[in-house]
Amino acid sequence: MNILVINCGSSSLKYQLLDMATEKLLVKGLCERIGIDGYLKHSLPDKDFEFNEPMPNHEVAVKLVLDALVHGEHGVIKDMKDINAVGHRVVHGGEKFSDSVVVTDEVEKYIEECADLAPLHNPPNLIGIRACKKIMPGVPNVAVFDTAFHMNMPEKAYLYAIPYEMYENHKIRKYGFHGTSHKYVSMLAAEMLGKPYNQAKVVTCHLGNGASICAVNGGVSVDTSMGLTPLEGLAMGTRSGDIDPAVIPFIMQKENMTAQEVLDLLNKKSGMLGVSGVSSDFRDLSDAESANNPRAKAALDLFCYRVARYVGSYATAMNGLDAVVFTAGVGENSSDVRKRVCEYLGYLGVSIDNDKNNQRGKAVDVSQNAAKVRVLVIPTNEELVIARDTKACL
Ligand code: AMP
Repeated sequence: MNILVINCGSSSLKYQLLDMATEKLLVKGLCERIGIDGYLKHSLPDKDFEFNEPMPNHEVAVKLVLDALVHGEHGVIKDMKDINAVGHRVVHGGEKFSDSVVVTDEVEKYIEECADLAPLHNPPNLIGIRACKKIMPGVPNVAVFDTAFHMNMPEKAYLYAIPYEMYENHKIRKYGFHGTSHKYVSMLAAEMLGKPYNQAKVVTCHLGNGASICAVNGGVSVDTSMGLTPLEGLAMGTRSGDIDPAVIPFIMQKENMTAQEVLDLLNKKSGMLGVSGVSSDFRDLSDAESANNPRAKAALDLFCYRVARYVGSYATAMNGLDAVVFTAGVGENSSDVRKRVCEYLGYLGVSIDNDKNNQRGKAVDVSQNAAKVRVLVIPTNEELVIARDTKACL
């Protein structure tokens, strides 16, 4: 069974085709600049192909992806019929979906309704689904939600302490994101610990440009750092993470800005970029810190301190901790961030081995042999979770 995984952004479309008999990745690729001009990168395991093709909309992009998949030279399947199903990443599934679902008209309608909660993400996700339905009639589409893994959080974790009617009337609550990643790395962590998944207490740190932390107790997300939207929680590349909500009207007044302008400031000009004034990219920050830039150091210090604070609070939430997992761009690659975070966590029984911590690119335990709480670096694979869920739904 071959499954095509699609992750559709407002002007981009990432894809992977997996053979689910072996879970082997056959090909992956990326369409960019959809609606502007159009660029397609199609990567076989041993060779990349690049094309500049007009992509006025996502439908054309999906069509070009399918052409590339069946192409005589760089294709990997003979016929479109060799695609058995399409799995779509959908960011917000609201309160309704605690699991992945086959897309029906009703599901589509609900994803559309949730656009209120994820205006930047759900509309392009839906465009991708509709494009596939049109171009591949009869092939089932499955929606895999970023929020679904967090839907079993207890009420005490997801309620905000604001009038309850805000939750009842407007569904204002913590939803959480990066669910496929937290689920994947926490399952692998339990395997690496040699514990049944339903007995492992794991804190997963997905540290990329967007960053979130999750307390996974016995395979259930019991708390997570992102909220109604992906703005809450850790400081991120350009997002502020947690702040006092009173800061918003204060900035509006002082800087003569609208609420939307302040929200943009918190989403796009804050976080590592805002504090450092250098960049949102952790490699640039690290270089600037090495060159004695004090604000780059302040940004990195703040980032690591907050990650550590969340880990401590989630160990409390679970009344115990077996492992801390680092994943995504920064978590997998920055030994410095891992070291700085773990320096705060000695009291829990965390102690990393600096030599082991310098490895990259594979799932590895970087703790000292005697450490009570293990520190694991696990490359995430959200597309594989989407493909597995898609297969399971069928
Ligand atoms: P992601 O959103 O998961 O793709 O992660 C993107 C982030 O990972 C960027 O801020 C990059 O700077 C960071 N990153 C990638 N490689 C490295 C590296 N070798 N060291 C530090 N950060 C890295």
